[in-house]
Amino acid sequence: MLTQRPRGTFDILPEEVRKWQRLEQATRLAFHHYHYQEVRTPVFEHTELFSRGVGDTTDIVEKEMYTFVDRGDRSLTLRPEGTAGVVRAYVENKLYGAGGLSKLYYMGPMFRYEKPQKGRNRQFHQYGCEALGAEGPEIDAEVISLNLDILRQFGVERAKVELNSVGCPVCRPRHKELMLEKLMPHRDQLCTDCQKRLEKNPLRIFDCKNEQCHAVLQESGAPTILQALCDDCKTHFDGVQSYLDQMDVPYVINEFLVRGLDYYTRTAWEVTVEGVGTVAGGGRYNGLVEQIGGPVTPGIGFAGSYERALVALEQQGFQGDAPDALDVFVAVADKTAQPAAMALLYALRSAGLTADRDYQGRSLKSQFKTADREAAKFVAVLGDAEVQNKTATLKQLATGEQQEVPFEQVVDFIRKNLSKGGLAQ
Ligand SMILES: [Zn+2]
Ligand SMILES: [Zn+2]
Repeated sequence: MLTQRPRGTFDILPEEVRKWQRLEQATRLAFHHYHYQEVRTPVFEHTELFSRGVGDTTDIVEKEMYTFVDRGDRSLTLRPEGTAGVVRAYVENKLYGAGGLSKLYYMGPMFRYEKPQKGRNRQFHQYGCEALGAEGPEIDAEVISLNLDILRQFGVERAKVELNSVGCPVCRPRHKELMLEKLMPHRDQLCTDCQKRLEKNPLRIFDCKNEQCHAVLQESGAPTILQALCDDCKTHFDGVQSYLDQMDVPYVINEFLVRGLDYYTRTAWEVTVEGVGTVAGGGRYNGLVEQIGGPVTPGIGFAGSYERALVALEQQGFQGDAPDALDVFVAVADKTAQPAAMALLYALRSAGLTADRDYQGRSLKSQFKTADREAAKFVAVLGDAEVQNKTATLKQLATGEQQEVPFEQVVDFIRKNLSKGGLAQ
């Protein structure tokens, strides 16, 4: 056990980390272009935040949370998603005080006790944003286009937006009644989860993975929420679609789409990739800020999974970037050169160059092999002769050219040659 990671977690080793760093950089850049600012909230919160914020009839809260009692007898939970914490921070720090729109983004680990499978882990990593304080369909269109844009920046091909409206506190109760009316006679044919949903939140029956439940939905003639929207919700949804059309953001309407969280109102969407499934998703949540104890504030946001994006990219043959090559490898030919080697390394690194050396007492020949393997652009050889002459012998590995350079000029010489770009780029 001592040398095994917990089930559902994984190590991201250096070669893999390079892929992550590329996606993280693309994330930050895209959010920057859309003028969102980063916010960092704790990895654990009071359990109540999620049971109230995410909704206590959701699978997340019912089955998947990592909840524990700390030494002070408080019930805490590792965050299973990002929105509740960001909204809590927005309320607690009174970010609404300025009266403007808050455009916030985040990235980091989330935790859910799920059955591990490809691209789905118990510790997983999300990027996401929340726009708090705007109600009109313009911001919906912005957030949806941003969601898709980030995936494009990652290089994910054929990502598709599936769009729906899940109504509001006016049309949802009416829709719930219609569903109950149509489904009650077929109650026994529904799975046990859906029987419970029927009482608490029948809309979520559309989200059931059970085929039998879907058949019952169809046969019973229960209306989709889209068929039961109130006029305001319908106008809003039409607005979102017309802006997306204007912006040339591709989407399809999926009237069966219901997000697995209770707080969504009106716009809801998922971004899917063929062969991978859902890679991101989001929605509007006009009641959440109030529910968490803040003033009535409309909000909308999305979250995407880095793991799922990587599955999509790997399906396309994405390899990740090659490791950064060394600018200089310092090779020590004789023991007397050790002090000079340490001084040179320090000077090179201080000057912003990437430099390394051998620390295992290897022969000059194997030091050159290492330099080759690390794709070093220069090898700086220091031996008895160089120490005597206060020089270093600089060899460009690409050309094989070699030159003795006075010690104090080594950094400048290498910098000048690197900026010429004539060497391995
Ligand atoms: Zn409505
Ligand atoms: Zn079901």
